Amino acid sequence: MEMDNIECVSSSDGGGGMEEEDIRTHNHNHNNQFSSSKGLNNNGISPAATSVHELLECPVCTNSMYPPIHQCHNGHTLCSTCKTRVHNRCPTCRQELGDIRCLALEKVAESLELPCKYGSLGCPEIFPYYSKLKHEALCNFRPYNCPYAGSECAVVGDIPFLVTHLRDDHKVDMHTGCTFNHRYVKSNPREVENATWMLTVFNCFGQYFCLHFEAFQLGMAPVYMAFLRFMGDENDARNYSYSLEVGANGRKLIWEGTPRSIRDSHRKVRDSHDGLIIQRNMALFFSGGDRKELKLRVTGRIWKEQQNQEAGVCIPNLCS
Ligand SMILES: [Zn+2]
Ligand SMILES: [Zn+2]
Ligand SMILES: [Zn+2]
Ligand SMILES: [Zn+2]
Repeated sequence: MEMDNIECVSSSDGGGGMEEEDIRTHNHNHNNQFSSSKGLNNNGISPAATSVHELLECPVCTNSMYPPIHQCHNGHTLCSTCKTRVHNRCPTCRQELGDIRCLALEKVAESLELPCKYGSLGCPEIFPYYSKLKHEALCNFRPYNCPYAGSECAVVGDIPFLVTHLRDDHKVDMHTGCTFNHRYVKSNPREVENATWMLTVFNCFGQYFCLHFEAFQLGMAPVYMAFLRFMGDENDARNYSYSLEVGANGRKLIWEGTPRSIRDSHRKVRDSHDGLIIQRNMALFFSGGDRKELKLRVTGRIWKEQQNQEAGVCIPNLCS
């Protein structure tokens, strides 16, 4: 029974009357089978495991299939996302699709163990088929999104790659050291609509930190906000603290916090107000002069939290 189902997928050269679209699908499958017959693939999976894996690839969208896996009366399989798109017609044989689950293939999937797809980035983990996706969404080796906030940037990669990308492609200022003294000047502080984003990258303790400064509308009031993000994951971010200070004329605001990981989007950090927020009136007061120009001096420091030297003991921040 199981073999029947498996066979009907790989023999996608079945029943005539194919239309152009079907032929492409067929060729694609054929190419996959061909390339996998060359021995070990990139993931180091044996050819047998690869061909089983191919069975679990949706013939239409080529994504891995997860339950419910559907099939037509002739046994052509289809992922559940594609099923909703094909108007109840099998994309391979054009027969009516009905509502048949391919339980045998679902069972085969259950028995598989596969390496995390970030194996090439260093993840050594192997997972049962159905928990692999869950792991990959949270895998510590998964690439980071570009932390630049001023535009939609789709670049992903590891930290050294992103540091280079920020410097070369976004022309971001790079600083070395754990203290800073920054001046933000804006000639027309009335304009918050086209929020100004500023990003500076700091390199200290062998790590990289992003200092964000921007203007946005908080409720009815325009505000300025500065905050720090850590270029690494949440656990490592907790090893550091930072402070920001802004002021003039005998007044000052001080913010002290833990940098957020760049795993948290810029937007998420901003919307949780996890940083130094300066009301516009206060910002203009700090700017001095005729309040026509924004001139803020923000000083700050990054430091490493004292860690318990004994192995296996968690960091104070981690245990509440
Ligand atoms: Zn699909
Ligand atoms: Zn079919
Ligand atoms: Zn992983
Ligand atoms: Zn970018």
